[in-house]
Amino acid sequence: MAYEAERQLAIEAATLAAQLCETIRQEIVPTALEKDDRSPVTIADFGAQAIICRALAAAFPHDPVVGEEDAAELRQSERVDVLQQVTVQVQRWVPEATPADVLDWIDHGNGAVGQRYWTLDPIDGTKGFLRGDQYAIALALIEDGDIKVGVLACPALQFENTEAGLLLVAVRGEGAQLMPLSSQTAQPIQVTTATGTGQFRFVESVEAGHGNQAQQSAVAQAVGITQPSVRMDSQAKYAAVAAGQAVLYLRLPSPKTPHYREKIWDHAAGVIIVEEAGGQVTDMHGQPLDFSKDARLNDNQGVVVSNGAIHQTVLAALAQTAAPTI
Ligand code: AMP
Ligand code: MG
Repeated sequence: MAYEAERQLAIEAATLAAQLCETIRQEIVPTALEKDDRSPVTIADFGAQAIICRALAAAFPHDPVVGEEDAAELRQSERVDVLQQVTVQVQRWVPEATPADVLDWIDHGNGAVGQRYWTLDPIDGTKGFLRGDQYAIALALIEDGDIKVGVLACPALQFENTEAGLLLVAVRGEGAQLMPLSSQTAQPIQVTTATGTGQFRFVESVEAGHGNQAQQSAVAQAVGITQPSVRMDSQAKYAAVAAGQAVLYLRLPSPKTPHYREKIWDHAAGVIIVEEAGGQVTDMHGQPLDFSKDARLNDNQGVVVSNGAIHQTVLAALAQTAAPTI
């Protein structure tokens, strides 16, 4: 199997990070620090990035990692207590870890987009994590702009006939699989091929400010989706489409932030998992997402994720609805 070492390492590292995050969520009420962009970050985000970057640095020392977090704030003397808390959590899985190690592992995620690199969101959906809702640990390997491996660990996700706590994985050309986080018994997954639009469901963010919910529901209605949206945090939405639980995920630019450009770690793992499950992902203009240039998808606007069969219909409907100003 292609990329077997990368796939296995990504599964193991994301599983450990998921255990760290769930342990923190169950044992203490995580509180959030505010980053410069006013988004929240917790000791679990830092701990998960440290654990995954440590594993990547050991196994693939030459691969840059483009991660969401960096340790600059934790290096400030007034944050020494937070660094200590992160270190204590990491030590449950890596007993020998020191505060200095933790800082260095987190900063291993300060790499740049290149010919071959990993991208990591240690907690995608931090707001969902804090609210007790969905979140995901998202890790992907990109080569020459093409996503080769993607893993989404979703500790709170549960479908009919599954236990809670799921991991999804895909390797380019080899399909997508779902497994319980507790067992690593993988089963192949496929997008839905149902044709009765009355049963179709679409997913969107819980956070209204991360999309354009009015336009999203107008597009969904235009393609015949009569059910209200299912709102979920994080790339668990990609998981829902890949596993056939939803036919569509719409993320159209918020009228409040029309110039927002999506970050690669919020999409890369989800994109390959949906594509390998038979679905399709483009931006709102039908262009492929470009993972070859920067940590932001500067040339893409909005994201449309579908089972493939309805994709062109969705793009056509989108072109007809009032577009936000660019
Ligand atoms: P979700 O859980 O799908 O709502 O997505 C969470 C992600 O939304 C975070 O990781 C942020 O990177 C991203 N985000 C923050 N602000 C915006 C925005 N204005 N538009 C779209 N996404 C955003
Ligand atoms: Mg995040």
